[in-house]
Amino acid sequence: MAVILDGKALAKETEAALAERVRKFNERAGRVPQLATILVGDDPASATYVKMKGNACARVGMLSQRIEMGRETTTGQLLDQIKALNDDPRIDGILLQHPVPRQIDERAAFEAISLDKDVDGVTCLGFGRMSMGAPAYGSATPAGIMRLLDHYNIEMEGKMAVVVGRSPILGKPMAMMLLNRNATVVICHSKTRGLPDIVRQGDIVVGAVGRPEFIQGDWIKDGAVVVDAGYHPGNVGDVDLKAAAQKASAYTPVPGGVGPMTISTLILQTMDSAEKSAL
Ligand code: NAP
Repeated sequence: MAVILDGKALAKETEAALAERVRKFNERAGRVPQLATILVGDDPASATYVKMKGNACARVGMLSQRIEMGRETTTGQLLDQIKALNDDPRIDGILLQHPVPRQIDERAAFEAISLDKDVDGVTCLGFGRMSMGAPAYGSATPAGIMRLLDHYNIEMEGKMAVVVGRSPILGKPMAMMLLNRNATVVICHSKTRGLPDIVRQGDIVVGAVGRPEFIQGDWIKDGAVVVDAGYHPGNVGDVDLKAAAQKASAYTPVPGGVGPMTISTLILQTMDSAEKSAL
């Protein structure tokens, strides 16, 4: 029977520890950590994600400032908003919910977030520093996946890791984090040829494709560890988990695997940022 990598349970454990850290921080610093969330436009899924992040802050006693901007927002207006948050000493972390409406230069907006408040790990500088093993907040989803793999003592060194997807917030940083832990990493994308046979070599397979149940059960090697980062309506991910679970030694469920770890990592990194700023 495959081990279920239970992100929901680990996130709950993390929150209990965080609530205690928030309490102690408040005693020392006379304030609680605060995350600013920026939602641009009216995408309902994005609105739900932002709400979940705010709720997680409240559960551990942190503040969250919710900023909502209309769908006609320009890049300039968003940059001004981010700058104001960078300059606000009460704000410890800034989350800009991806994706933003098309007319906005999302990369420019991410880059405007100051490194010490980039608790979602979206800036080039943060990515570069993380890749080089220097201190930086990791991109929240892959950093959450790493925390989950570590919690279950999943060995990475010397293992073949196949990451399917190369987005700036997920596939690419995931690959770098696995590489930093001495896995041998293959990064696949939409132009990759012979994907099933490449995935079949993976001791660790990360599905970060954005297509429901795209990775098939018979692509999974016996005993592989399967991480499904995808989430789609109907509670399915990017991997056909029913079939993959028959072959895997461990896998992340959908829901309750990667999703809760993303939020947990975001608020954990906000806590870290608050503690650093109070030093
Ligand atoms: P994305 O930006 O759309 O990137 C998808 C990646 O998959 C791209 O690199 C793309 O390749 C690759 N791809 C697309 N079709 C492919 C194919 N046929 N074969 C191989 N690779 C293919 O998506 P994302 O933001 O990284 O998200 C990926 C998934 O993770 C989604 O299901 C999303 O919902 C989920 N997600 C979950 C969380 C969470 O907190 N749980 C957070 C973020 C994302 P190209 O680069 O060549 O286009």
